[in-house]
Amino acid sequence: MLISFKDYINNKMTSKKFILNLSYEEIQQILLNWGEKEYRAKQIWEGLYSNLWNTSTEFTTLSKNLRERLSQEFIFSHLDQIKKLVSQDGHTTKTLFILPDGKTIEAVLMDYKNRHTLCISTQVGCSLGCKFCATGQMGLQRNLSSGEIIEQVLFYARTLRDKGEKINNVVYMGMGEPFLNYKATMKSIRGLNKPDGFNLGTRRFTISTVGIVPKIQEFTKEKGQVNLAISLHAADNRLRSSLLPINKKYPIEQLIEACRNYVIHTGRRVTFEWALINNINDSNNQADKLGKLLKNLNCHINIIPLNPTKGFNGEKSRPDQVIEFQNTLARYNIPCTVRVRRGIEIQAGCGQLVSKKSVNI
Ligand code: SAH
Ligand code: SF4
Repeated sequence: MLISFKDYINNKMTSKKFILNLSYEEIQQILLNWGEKEYRAKQIWEGLYSNLWNTSTEFTTLSKNLRERLSQEFIFSHLDQIKKLVSQDGHTTKTLFILPDGKTIEAVLMDYKNRHTLCISTQVGCSLGCKFCATGQMGLQRNLSSGEIIEQVLFYARTLRDKGEKINNVVYMGMGEPFLNYKATMKSIRGLNKPDGFNLGTRRFTISTVGIVPKIQEFTKEKGQVNLAISLHAADNRLRSSLLPINKKYPIEQLIEACRNYVIHTGRRVTFEWALINNINDSNNQADKLGKLLKNLNCHINIIPLNPTKGFNGEKSRPDQVIEFQNTLARYNIPCTVRVRRGIEIQAGCGQLVSKKSVNI
């Protein structure tokens, strides 16, 4: 695109509503107010979420008048792709999107043998400042709207559809803390889950949180079977607070109690994430403490060897220490897997996503 940043923002300024921010019921209400028949809402929803249309002109199922009204009142896209990076093995793709206010976010598609997992962002940056996380190192710029979260998924669904493929899983593990943007996060899942549209089952979604205890409690009461992952990374408060400042507000005891309640009430297993950092949280002592902490809890531990970020000096654990850590956990009968690091050379790994301060549009 050969326009300046300033012109880009000016062009994007509009009072129109972003259609993906609306729930089905909200679209239905607007159409009723316009004096349209009820089935029109269904047609619009199917157009957006099943046919994956993103311009008003594609809505050929509607009358010309209604199509024109839609284009006068709504915009259909908030995200423009400004950069795409593909890993050397071709299996990880990272896209940098620009939002109408010029802020940028990233989303990462991971291709596996029989499935595609998309990692999406919920905020521009993050306020929580976890020491080893690139997103945390940049601070919070703003929350994403539900539509901006949804559009990351629809964007990739479109590119996959052209190859006859689709997104199988969506993980809320990109930039930001989903539970500090709770409403938009849950609204996006409800929108993408709706059967007459995108129809992605609730079990296909995973929310990762650093441990916002009141929101875990709220999430426990939600209907549906969305998976919950907790970024734990340390088994005692001293170490955890030094890595994840939010631990001072919601210490480990409160966090684990909220997780135990979640498991009791939902009957679902919880996943704990643990970025293994050489000589920091990879000792047998930490593994022992972790084993005791999670005793009798239906859970699973996901080990992620630390990904490098500019603002943190730590290094990933040595392979023999990773095995040792796993062996210690095995003694407590806690299932544990080591996540394969992907897309590290394009900074697409966990915790490596950042906004770009300057962009070439
Ligand atoms: N804010 C949420 C979700 C986004 S972070 C959360 O913290 O859970 C997604 C995952 O990447 C979290 O488990 C986070 O702890 C992890 N992570 C952050 N920085 C990392 C790094 N440098 N290496 C490996 N994992 C990292
Ligand atoms: Fe925020 Fe998660 Fe990064 Fe912590 S790890 S700074 S909570 S995005």
